Amino acid sequence: MSQKEIEESLDLLQKDWDVDPTLRNFMLGKITDVSDRPIKVKDVVFHVPYLNSEKKFILWKCFWPDCHNCCDRQGRLPLTSDDLITIGKGLKYQKPSEFIKNETLTVTYSEPGPSGQMTTMTTINLKRKTDETEADDGTHISCRFLNDEGGCSMHPDRPGVCYLYPFSSWLENEKGKPRVHATYQFTGDCPGFYLAEDLEPMKEEFKEYSKIIYDYNMASNRTNREGFGSVSFS
Ligand code: SF4
Ligand code: SF4
Repeated sequence: MSQKEIEESLDLLQKDWDVDPTLRNFMLGKITDVSDRPIKVKDVVFHVPYLNSEKKFILWKCFWPDCHNCCDRQGRLPLTSDDLITIGKGLKYQKPSEFIKNETLTVTYSEPGPSGQMTTMTTINLKRKTDETEADDGTHISCRFLNDEGGCSMHPDRPGVCYLYPFSSWLENEKGKPRVHATYQFTGDCPGFYLAEDLEPMKEEFKEYSKIIYDYNMASNRTNREGFGSVSFS
């Protein structure tokens, strides 16, 4: 996402939510004196930003059900092979092939990876609106499964990626074994970020998300191995 897009998202967000001015500046790249403070919680290493000038960590909590901004401004819903089965069944499809044909789009796109290198991915994405086309990929669309109460009509069988936001995650090779890493994605759409002097207030979220993120990465890795998607680096 470009800085301009993040700024537009933050401006929209600030119509309904207070955003700490320091955090806004950080998300717009105006604060650069930032350390990465990795913390290992069960099977995942979380990379938590620490603002040196403020002596504070950036932490997060979710405001759902008061907020459902991530469903209102959905950018892309890549599916794992597990999702293809559960969501297809949930939408009453007998055959996964019919579900894939009618409800998904296969899209190739590039994003900067964790160390800045461009990563090209091909994924099977759930359509966020029934007439979605490839040209809509990456744009903000209110997801068709968001119901009037602000919940997901597919819950609990919603796509694994929906459980992940606002984290992004990746796998690294650590002494021959896969290690899952995670950090926040600052898209300007989530009001849940706040500053704190220590990591204690986010203890429960770290524990809960460690399992979600680990399971998602294993499912995602299987998806590529099974040929339902691919990742390459340039
Ligand atoms: S993750 Fe952020 S944007 Fe999504 S519902 Fe929670 S607070 Fe809102
Ligand atoms: S599938 Fe459900 S959780 Fe995911 S974006 Fe749509 S409404 Fe939100």
